[in-house]
Amino acid sequence: MTKTLSIYSSCGTPAGYRRHLRDGTDTCPRCKKAIATYMRRYRHDKGLSKARLIPDTIIQKHGIKVGA
Ligand SMILES: [Zn+2]
Repeated sequence: MTKTLSIYSSCGTPAGYRRHLRDGTDTCPRCKKAIATYMRRYRHDKGLSKARLIPDTIIQKHGIKVGA
């Protein structure tokens, strides 16, 4: 198995990560780090925490006990 490293000029950015996906190439460490940072910032900007990613309706539907 060959290691695929930064092969695009956009590597190290979310755009580079998406380019890997589109081309079907392995994501390089720089792109993985970029998308992780991007997602963390995105969630932060939207004020989303893990708990809020699950809507109340889903919690009720599945009978998930919260803080019981
Ligand atoms: Zn890359």
